[in-house]
Amino acid sequence: MKENLLGLDAIGLERFFEAQGEKRFRARQLLRWMHQRGEADFAQMSDLARPLRERLSSVSEIKLPAIVGDTVAADGTRKWLLKVDGANAVEAVFIPETSRGTLCISSQAGCVLDCAFCSTGKQGFNRNLSTAEIVGQLWLANRLLDGERPVTNVVMMGMGEPLLNLDNVIPALRLMLDDQAYGLSRRRVTVSTAGVIPGIDRLRDECPVALAVSLHAPNDALRDQLVPVNRKYPLAELTAACKRYLDKAPRDFITFEYVMLDGVNDAESHARELVALAGKVRSKFNLIPFNPFPRSEFKRSPPERIKRFAEVLQRAGLTVTTRKTRGDDIAAACGQLAGDVADRTRRSVALKEVRA
Ligand code: SAH
Repeated sequence: MKENLLGLDAIGLERFFEAQGEKRFRARQLLRWMHQRGEADFAQMSDLARPLRERLSSVSEIKLPAIVGDTVAADGTRKWLLKVDGANAVEAVFIPETSRGTLCISSQAGCVLDCAFCSTGKQGFNRNLSTAEIVGQLWLANRLLDGERPVTNVVMMGMGEPLLNLDNVIPALRLMLDDQAYGLSRRRVTVSTAGVIPGIDRLRDECPVALAVSLHAPNDALRDQLVPVNRKYPLAELTAACKRYLDKAPRDFITFEYVMLDGVNDAESHARELVALAGKVRSKFNLIPFNPFPRSEFKRSPPERIKRFAEVLQRAGLTVTTRKTRGDDIAAACGQLAGDVADRTRRSVALKEVRA
């Protein structure tokens, strides 16, 4: 099998070239060609001698996920459906804002964690994405979007739990940070976790970037129901892990994500409990109005309730933002990503029938 060079970070590429009897500096050249210039064809790499280019194409490849869907929402949010193998597809979402462009990428096809309110969890777990499939999402977005370096921020908030796929996620993060590749600052790359504690510690030791934790409940009883991984890693241990993370984090706070579910976790009493919890670790809150998906059993909290909830936190001195819902008309909003190729096919068939 040919080695996919897109999935090798600087060290991996150096090893690859050494094994080929080549100089290690070739790694830097290849990184720049692939990731800075977005070149996927060895033949175009003009500063490599022809025999080397030929050998590279006989032993290796630069292979990207295939784009099988490309949709733009009314607000400019763009979603790609990417086929990673015969049975699996994942989604990546680009969210343009005035001063930045954020790409939300997936780390797994499906997810084992099965959070009660998340559409990805409902499809079960299929497999980990490889490093090439993770970084390939960024490669494709930069190629397909207009302008120079359109992606300024990356958030691992798409499908899957990144901290359950760290063997592949860490080299992908290193490529995002590498000046020879994407050169993003650690503060502009965010990993989001449902609270996998050993993963938080490993990320801290091996590749600290900005960390977001999906909290969603202020106590263990409720969190056990909404985020089942809490039964294994309860809140007291989670907040302790967040504190340890801050020793090495590029930012001096953890972002706590909190999905607003009507009548479930949005009472003022929940907000007051959260204030107590937030006293244990430097944090900022990001409230996410729930995004419905087919067959979801929850409702979004009404805007006035979200506002009141935010006010309780703010009055206690906490920083709170409420996430603007983006791209929900194309099912690109948080928690709506499914990567369901079969479903998509059915929909496009239905569309053709309507048009005919
Ligand atoms: N597994 C990681 C990353 C993926 S989810 C994690 O749990 O953090 C990214 C964010 O979207 C998480 O905070 C998640 O809880 C939230 N989310 C999931 N489903 C949602 C929905 N239907 N509406 C709003 N946010 C949702």
